Order: sequence, then C-alpha cells, then structure tokens
Amino acid sequence: MHRTTDPRPALGLRPVINVAGTMTYLGASSVRAEAIAAMAAILPEFVEMGALQRYASRALAAATGAEAGFVTASAAAGVSLTLAGAMTGADPARIERLPDTEGMTRRVLIQAGHHVHYGAPVTQAIRLTGAEPVLLGTATRVEPYHLLSALEAPTAAVLFVVSHHTVDHGQLSLEEVVAQCRPRAVPVIVDAASEYDLTGFLARGADAVVYSGHKFLGGPTAGIVVGRTALVRAAYLQTLGIGRGMKVGKESIVGVLAALAAFQARDAQAVRAREDAAIALWAERLADLPGLTTAVVPDPTGNPLVRLEVLINPSQAGTTAWDLADWLAAGDPPVIVRDHMVEHGRFQLDPCNLHPGEAEIVADCIRQCLAQGGPRRTLADRRAAKLAALLAWPE
Ligand SMILES: *Cc1c(COP(=O)(O)O)cnc(C)c1O
Repeated sequence: MHRTTDPRPALGLRPVINVAGTMTYLGASSVRAEAIAAMAAILPEFVEMGALQRYASRALAAATGAEAGFVTASAAAGVSLTLAGAMTGADPARIERLPDTEGMTRRVLIQAGHHVHYGAPVTQAIRLTGAEPVLLGTATRVEPYHLLSALEAPTAAVLFVVSHHTVDHGQLSLEEVVAQCRPRAVPVIVDAASEYDLTGFLARGADAVVYSGHKFLGGPTAGIVVGRTALVRAAYLQTLGIGRGMKVGKESIVGVLAALAAFQARDAQAVRAREDAAIALWAERLADLPGLTTAVVPDPTGNPLVRLEVLINPSQAGTTAWDLADWLAAGDPPVIVRDHMVEHGRFQLDPCNLHPGEAEIVADCIRQCLAQGGPRRTLADRRAAKLAALLAWPE
C-alpha cells in the first residue's frame, strides 16, 4: 500500500488502525497508489467534463457489462440521482423542477427489510428527490403479493438494497422483483454500495446498479452508477438540478477509474492469503484468553472475504464486548473494531484494510486491554454518550 510521511500527528489526529471495514467515519478507504497517481496527474489540468464522463461511461460499461455509466459523489448520491432520473427522464424542465414532482410518477417501492441506515436512512436518499418511499411487507416478511399490490398504482422504481445491514431472510429475491417489474417497465435499481460483484446484478436483470468508489474498490470518495443507457443518462442529467450539490470532480472520476482497473488487475489470491494470514494470527494469539472465543465468519452478502468474530462471555472475561471495543478505540494506537453486534456479545475484526505490521498490534492491544480493563458502561449509557459526542461537534 502507498504511504508517505504520516500527516496525522501534525493535524492532531490519532493514528487509528481500522479493523472495522471501509467506513465513512474512518475516512473510507486506503486509496490505491494507482488512483492517487491518476488524481495527482489530472488535478492541474482543465478537462471537458462531459467528455471525461463519456470516457468513464465506456470504461464502466466494459467493467460491468452495462450499456452506460457515470461517476458521482457517493453511492448515496447515486441512489438519489438514479431515482430522480426514473421520475424525470431526460426532460430538463422536470429535472429543474425537482424536488417538486408535479406531474411525475413518484412512488418508489422498497422491501421493509431493506429499509436500512448506512450512516443515514436509505429512505431519505429517496425522499431527497421528491419521491415517496413505499415500504413493502414487514421487516421479516415480504411476499410477492405485497409487490404486486403496490405495483397496481403508478410506480417510478423499485429500490433493491444489497447489504449486511438488510434483514437476511424473508425478502423477495432480485429475480422475483425483476420478474414483476420488467413487464410493467418499472426500473429496478440496486444499491450494491459495498459489493465486489460488478456484473452479477445487471446480469440478473437490474436496470441500474450503484456502487461506492471508496469501499472495496479503494478509490477516492465517489459513487458509480451503471445500467441501461436511458436511465443512466437521465440520472447523469440531474447535474442540471438536484445533482449539482452532489457533483464530482475530475480527480474523483479518474481516481475511481484507476482504482477500478487496479481492483480488476489485483492478485485476488494473494490479497485473500494476506487477509487469511491476519485472521489466523488473531485466532492463534487470542486463543488462550479466558471468556474470549473466536470464530471465522463469512461475509453475509457473499463478498470473497472472511472476518474474525470475537465472542465475549462477560462473566469469564470480566468485561462486555462493547466495553472492550471502546477500550480498544480509546487505546494507543486506537483500534477500531466492527462493533454493530456488540449487544449480542460479539464484535468482528475485518482484515481488509490492514497496513503491514498492524495485525500483530491489534492482537497485542486486545490482550493488553483485557489485562488492564477500563471504564465500564451499560449499553444504554454507551449509546447516549456516542450520540452526545456526535451532537456536540465541533467541541
Ligand atoms: C456504504 C453504503 C452506502 C453509502 O455509500 P456512500 O458511497 O458512502 O454514499 C449506501 N448503501 C449501502 C448499502 C452501503 O453499504
């Protein structure tokens, strides 16, 4: 990985070790050297942005099997722009009118178990455009009749979310959704922000797919929209309207394309071997700790990676999973674990973003934290303290 002199100490920033995954709140990804070089080269130059996005369209089409594509500010922006495009088409008057949707079909269907929060509620990415989210079924049970009944009223699109955040059972498959939407010409838009699979969702019938540029691709902060030409064009043209505030710079476009090329050219086996070595090292170095057990778990949406789950038995370990996660985050160096399951007594170590030597440090920090202990909180106090800290910014 590309590293220069670490600028963080001069900025008063702690040198965090990221075993959480690619998280916006941690600066997203460690950007690939190829992307950094491409961004540095384009930054001083002027370009015709329409031509650059046309070039991007061809590169993204080649990589995904789509007819067309473009780069935007983020996956969340891509979701909003594509839904907006489904409402306006390539009509500039409608594009300028949003979020006023007068005269437009504005219902966007989403399965109740897909109604997630990825840092913001996904339904807000829908509502931003002026569209109206319509939830299908209940969190744990969506049946074909829910979709069929909802499709009886005019519908702009269906948003299908692929994520570890979604409910993992009781939802309609992409194939089931496509089968009902295709004959009715209702576009199916897939939010695949953190998925490795660049071709499968389109191949299975999605009309457009949205990816994040700064997750597994290792690009700068950006989003990618690919799909059918008419829909992608309508989404792209939102730059004349609500997309203005989601605009992407020339550096992000070339950076994402360079990251994509490097991602596709990577030695996937060597990457996976490095990740597996970190998992094995952690499992071995944590094996003798009382009240702590580990398990290798696959990625919930089938991405080709595994994580190490750390399970804490509080009576034997003398701590809870959330206190240990917090002690690690407060440590020197701070170690940020994947902690969305701490209420179930477990967190995960994600090996995908480690710099050389950091796996060993993570294991040492866990051993030290368990030996030393630290402040203890209830889950409710932890939640309240996190929210209070967030709301008190910039203090
Ligand atoms: C991360 C994520 C997003 C947001 O991606 P950004 O590119 O950071 O906007 C949206 N949807 C899902 C499912 C995600 O996992």
